Amino acid sequence: MGSESQKLHIFFFPYPAHGHMIPTIDMAKLFATRGVRATILTTPLNLPIVSRTIGNPKTTPQNPDILISTLTIRFPCLEVGLPEGCENAESIPSPSLILNFRRATRMLQQPLEQLLLQHQPHCLIADMFFPWATDSAAKFGIPRIVFHGTSSFAQCAIECMRLYQPHKEVSSDSEPFVIPNLPGEIKMTKMLLPKFMRSNDDDDDDDTNEVMRLFKAIRESELRSFGVVVNSFYGLDGVYADHNRKVFRRKTWQIGPVSLSHRDMKEKANRGKEASFNEQECLKWLDSKEPNSTLYICFGSVANFNDSQLREIALALEASGHNFIWVVRKSRKEEEEEDQWLPEGFEKRMEGKGLIIRGWAPQVLILEHVAVGGFVTHCGWNSTLEGVCAGVPMVTWPVAAEQFYNEKFVTEVVRIGVPVGVKKFAEMVGDSVEKEDIENAIRRVMEGEEAEEMRNRAKKYINMAKQAVEERGSSYLELNALIQELEIQAACDHNHMDLAELFASHGRYEP
Ligand code: UDP
Repeated sequence: MGSESQKLHIFFFPYPAHGHMIPTIDMAKLFATRGVRATILTTPLNLPIVSRTIGNPKTTPQNPDILISTLTIRFPCLEVGLPEGCENAESIPSPSLILNFRRATRMLQQPLEQLLLQHQPHCLIADMFFPWATDSAAKFGIPRIVFHGTSSFAQCAIECMRLYQPHKEVSSDSEPFVIPNLPGEIKMTKMLLPKFMRSNDDDDDDDTNEVMRLFKAIRESELRSFGVVVNSFYGLDGVYADHNRKVFRRKTWQIGPVSLSHRDMKEKANRGKEASFNEQECLKWLDSKEPNSTLYICFGSVANFNDSQLREIALALEASGHNFIWVVRKSRKEEEEEDQWLPEGFEKRMEGKGLIIRGWAPQVLILEHVAVGGFVTHCGWNSTLEGVCAGVPMVTWPVAAEQFYNEKFVTEVVRIGVPVGVKKFAEMVGDSVEKEDIENAIRRVMEGEEAEEMRNRAKKYINMAKQAVEERGSSYLELNALIQELEIQAACDHNHMDLAELFASHGRYEP
């Protein structure tokens, strides 16, 4: 595929939530740096965030012009009863409107097909939450690839739970069970599962049924798709990548960590939303701290906590005595001098020791700073992987989605973190944890021999992650294999040949 018009052209269609958009843009950049023409689809209000994150990727002599562009699709808020402007999962005002948001995304199918008709890309990489995208791609005779946004480990765990339903064999919500046929003897309880899995068939409400139908559709559309791209790397969860391929017969390519597609400081700082605290100031503040002396606390872009929980976190941070940067998804009310949810005089007492960032932080830059020695995370897969790439031990505090599996991965498989002790799956507002438990978990990752051992294990992943995406690394080669396969497919469609004919004329190609 030499000339511009013949370049492999891929549509990237992320779910409108930062945890899905950011890695999809990272991925588009990765493809583009390998000579693929990438077009990212988004909604008008998300466009500035997409453009910031794309930035100006660096060209190389082998790839002198990097082609990334964007197209927008109107997001139908009002049609589904969402407030105007609610185009990103972070703006959903209450958990009761999550389904309305998903209904709005379902209405994106028709405008997507319009764009496919107009631009005729060779492939569509679409988020798992768009199960109808496989049919859309099929209408135009192009392959659809699924992006789940999570690890091979979590994908295997979810599939084992679906196949064997071990939670149906326990007598109480808190009785542990082992996830069958998943390497590593991983134990869960029913309380850590989403509501649609916990419920009995007889008492399911309409919302639960709708979620169950969605997950069934996601699975079916994946089975009919070209394959799955995974943001992880072989050195991290290769056992589960193999399990996924050999046992579950999924066709996957592990091409991450995609966050490493951002090389310089500016690019890293521009990933996602504009930071609420100047990144230079933030780094200057960290420069004044000893190596591994500072905790970073952030719960991603969607999870929330009520005021009493935020207060417990503040008290635990103060009691632990460690420096910290704490990201809180709440802005201070204009009329208030001090946030009402903080213990009295907290910020004054913590001056020089702790920094509260209200809104959005340049997470990757902070995690990579030598002063950061621990990460309190909600275990969203992006944050988890960014913690791994930075070699930072974690306090795991899952809230929803597949975060409870990610917690198991961090604490029991790679053993670079400790659980804070969450007992229950929530939707958007996290389960409550007491100050003593938070303080204890913080001390375990920041102090003493156990912390040292975790840190040593964690540090080994810094180079492993970098090597995976460098030339000849595992993710680099898997991405090559995928691009090659898509080029063959595109050439085949172009020449109206079938794959068997093409392989016969070119010799067999094995990924
Ligand atoms: N993020 C960030 N600054 C913030 C909050 C989040 O840069 O203040 C980024 C973070 O680095 C990650 C993404 O947003 O790449 C969040 O994705 P994740 O899967 O961790 O969690 P989600 O937001 O989907 O729950």
